[in-house]
Amino acid sequence: MKGDVLVIGAGIVGLSVAYNLAEMGCRKVIVAEKEFVGAGTTGKGGGGVRHQFSTELNIKLTIESLNILKRFKNLTGYDPQLKSISYYLLATKEEEEILKWSVKAQLKHGLHSRLIEPSELKPILKGVVLDDIAVASTCKEDSWVNPSILLQGYYDSCIRHEVIVLEHTEIQTLKEEKGYLRAVSEVETIDADTVVIAAGAYSAPLGRSIGVEIPIQPFKRQMFYVEGLPSVAKTNLLLFDMHNKVALVNRVEGSIVGVHDRSVPGSFDETINLDDALYVKNVAAHRIPSIKEAELTGGIAGLYEMTPDRNAILGCIPNVKGLFCAAGFSGHGIMHAPIVGKIVAEMILKDKPSVDVSQFSPNRFLNNKQVYEQIVI
Ligand SMILES: Cc1cc2nc3c(=O)[nH]c(=O)nc-3n(C[C@H](O)[C@H](O)[C@H](O)COP(=O)(O)OP(=O)(O)OC[C@H]3O[C@@H](n4cnc5c(N)ncnc54)[C@H](O)[C@@H]3O)c2cc1C
Repeated sequence: MKGDVLVIGAGIVGLSVAYNLAEMGCRKVIVAEKEFVGAGTTGKGGGGVRHQFSTELNIKLTIESLNILKRFKNLTGYDPQLKSISYYLLATKEEEEILKWSVKAQLKHGLHSRLIEPSELKPILKGVVLDDIAVASTCKEDSWVNPSILLQGYYDSCIRHEVIVLEHTEIQTLKEEKGYLRAVSEVETIDADTVVIAAGAYSAPLGRSIGVEIPIQPFKRQMFYVEGLPSVAKTNLLLFDMHNKVALVNRVEGSIVGVHDRSVPGSFDETINLDDALYVKNVAAHRIPSIKEAELTGGIAGLYEMTPDRNAILGCIPNVKGLFCAAGFSGHGIMHAPIVGKIVAEMILKDKPSVDVSQFSPNRFLNNKQVYEQIVI
């Protein structure tokens, strides 16, 4: 089979890239997916869209993505159920400077973000222990989308644009041929001028098959549901305790808590672990004591796709003509997929992308020019 562009991976990022390529007039776009559409991290991810980052480019990517999300229904016919949500980031003295920097950067971009004193938060966050909190932050534009609808919108739009989506097609090796790239799976050999690796946590082995290092490691992230939690505050609230690394999403039917420092990097294990659940509950109970009495009712485990500086890898891979990477979103791929799909399509079809993402280029690991993202939830 021969295509102009082959995208490897039918998660939110791969489908956004494929959709944007087709939309910009690229004629033969093929997507190869080892399992089924949304089988990877996208199928496990939440719909948080936040501007509160410590890297300016991440703030910009959220702004640009949100602009697309607002028009998504017109573009695809699917309503992504975009709604506003209050993210409160809580910092002790140790993390205070990160929040101060982040709010300053958000303000520069015209966002309505601010630092909040704990005394102002107390009446809003009833039942939350704030004694050790030095400062909190929030951004009025932070939002939430429904990731399944977003994925469906991209998938259907791809099909409408005659993108070929091959499920159950695992690319095992990539090879350089004369003037094009060859992707080999057990069921299909696909030749294409351009290949985009959008395989999420599974991107590194694809790079290795063609002799390039793509520094992305899987990292299990678990979210647990608790019921019977006395209402902490209003719904549509996400609290992130930066010090203890626990996030709590207050939803009508209960809450979700997540934690990330007990996972073992490098493992593709996606099973829920009861010990971790109890550990998370305990850690979360330091901040919200009523969690102790709440009942654990289930959970979900997925793989974060972590890079050394916790930022995505976007752009052409050095020394292999036609090979691009759009992966390694380190836990913020759903919110950034809308603009990243457009940027990667522009990189392939035009001279220059509309947003300068050179800071996230694969080259940065060779040149030692990494910018560490400090706010990963
Ligand atoms: C618990 C949890 C909560 C999250 N919450 C949020 C959130 O609130 N907001 C947010 O923005 N992000 C969130 N994320 C992160 C987000 O889900 C990911 O960053 C995003 O889904 C990554 O999308 P992707 O398309 O790059 O990867 P994936 O969705 O993993 O897609 C990659 C695809 O490639 C396929 N593939 C892999 N190898 C091959 C191969 N060799 N050949 C063919 N196909 C292959 C896989 O099967 C997979 O379908 C969360 C993640 C988790 C786990």
